[in-house]
Amino acid sequence: MTVFEVPALRVRALVDRPWRSKGDHVVYWMTSTRRGGSNFALQHAVARATQFDVPLIVLEALRCDYPWASARLHRFVLDGMQDQRRWFEERGIAYHAYVEPEVGAGRGLIAALAARACGVVTDEFPCFFLPRMLAAAAAKLAVRLESVDSNGLLPLRAAPTDFPTAYAFRRFLQKSLAPHVQSAPLADALADVRLPSGAVPEPIAKRWPMASDELLRGAERALAALPIEARVKPVELRGGERAALSAMRGFLDRKLVDYEEQRNQPDARGTSGLSPYLHFGHIGVHQVLGELARREDWSPARIAGVTHGRKSGWWNMSSMAEAFLDELVTWRELGYVFCSRRADYASYDALPAWALETLVEHADDPRPALYSLEQFAAAHTHDALWNAAQTQLVREGSIHNYLRMLWGKKVLEWSRTPREALATLIELNNRYALDGRNPNSYSGIFWCLGRFDRPWPERKVFGKVRCMTSDSTAKKLDVSEYLARYSPPRERGLFERAE
Ligand SMILES: Cc1cc2nc3c(=O)[nH]c(=O)nc-3n(C[C@H](O)[C@H](O)[C@H](O)COP(=O)(O)OP(=O)(O)OC[C@H]3O[C@@H](n4cnc5c(N)ncnc54)[C@H](O)[C@@H]3O)c2cc1C
Repeated sequence: MTVFEVPALRVRALVDRPWRSKGDHVVYWMTSTRRGGSNFALQHAVARATQFDVPLIVLEALRCDYPWASARLHRFVLDGMQDQRRWFEERGIAYHAYVEPEVGAGRGLIAALAARACGVVTDEFPCFFLPRMLAAAAAKLAVRLESVDSNGLLPLRAAPTDFPTAYAFRRFLQKSLAPHVQSAPLADALADVRLPSGAVPEPIAKRWPMASDELLRGAERALAALPIEARVKPVELRGGERAALSAMRGFLDRKLVDYEEQRNQPDARGTSGLSPYLHFGHIGVHQVLGELARREDWSPARIAGVTHGRKSGWWNMSSMAEAFLDELVTWRELGYVFCSRRADYASYDALPAWALETLVEHADDPRPALYSLEQFAAAHTHDALWNAAQTQLVREGSIHNYLRMLWGKKVLEWSRTPREALATLIELNNRYALDGRNPNSYSGIFWCLGRFDRPWPERKVFGKVRCMTSDSTAKKLDVSEYLARYSPPRERGLFERAE
């Protein structure tokens, strides 16, 4: 394998035809790894374009009919598109950002670009509508289509199966991850490459035009013209690779040192805030590990060979770095592997048997309160802390990590059935959270109902599923500032009718 080649385990043929050496260009269809740096799929596409000595055309498209499409999510992706446009322009590569103006308008674009291509490279993402979208494209394309997995440190196909707990997965990682840590994507796959210059063929650019500057800026008027949910408004946080790298550096410079102690404190804002960037592919886990390694003066040669399954000790880094990596790698990739292996990852019946059983046994327990989706969405419960968490979600597109667990657990307790609770959580999380619609969304939501957890002492409603209370949370954490910041005056919920 040359330094340029991507590990074979990360590449999958979706249309298994030979590469056409006489094609006009190679297409990289960027769908989830939305960045220029440290991107295995881009690296693979550059390698193929170099091999055939043809231009590379990068297409980054944004549909308007993906589930929960909104001004908030669109704006975050558009921020990234601006960064990508600059990144590829600086390297003389044709980059086409296409933003669908109406449902179905983008149909045919990838097939048109593929028609005269040597082949098409795209990203692999194990959840949401993306696997379906790629399968549909594969059924239509008559050229080679390969998807490349840039999701985690562990290639998805290196996992033999899904894992029931973080402990089981951690033990597997401790045995198997080391060789994969060595093969990171190139920081800039175009750095030492001279490709012939290319452009999107004119008839294609005419029918599916490049997004305007106004749209890429996320201007209110341009967003308002799109058939997407305008009431889920853009948030202050900006998307894109540059914002992601700066968030990562800010976290490592100032907050990592207190990560173990402050992670749970809502007012300390002690976590990285990287989840939206990781979700949209604006930053990759290899970039974060690389920066951490530099600061810790660490290299993979330092990995300790322990396989005890404990959170610390394997990386042989400082305890704060290991605590962070346990979230970023163990917990994050546990969910990615689960979604890649389990087509039923979003289904209630995919809960562990003990959880299904205990929830049935407690189905008739009286609930201390009952709320509908509309009441939850509008933060209309009796519980000030829960309402504050929901208000943060609606306003800022995120909930502080610890309170997010409480938020989820209470929806289970205050819904008519666990199935209804699950539907409510998926709806609220995926609609409002910037980092929603991700494997971790399903890890977190299903964890509230028992996934990746073990049975606990039995309680009403929860049965053996772990329960949490607002009172104990308030005792454990300092929530006063949080409550002041996110308490009323509240905003009208999306599901409320106008008076
Ligand atoms: C009900 C519920 C819903 C959730 N929904 C989402 C979601 O939609 N998207 C999402 O990315 N995470 C979700 N999580 C997991 C977790 O809350 C977030 O990943 C974390 O709060 C993100 O903040 P951060 O980036 O500052 O995390 P940090 O503490 O800085 O952690 C760094 C990274 O590690 C990963 N990570 C951290 N905690 C977890 C965890 N418990 N499970 C899996 N990965 C983790 C994330 O990628 C995170 O960005 C959910 C958790 C719960 C309980």
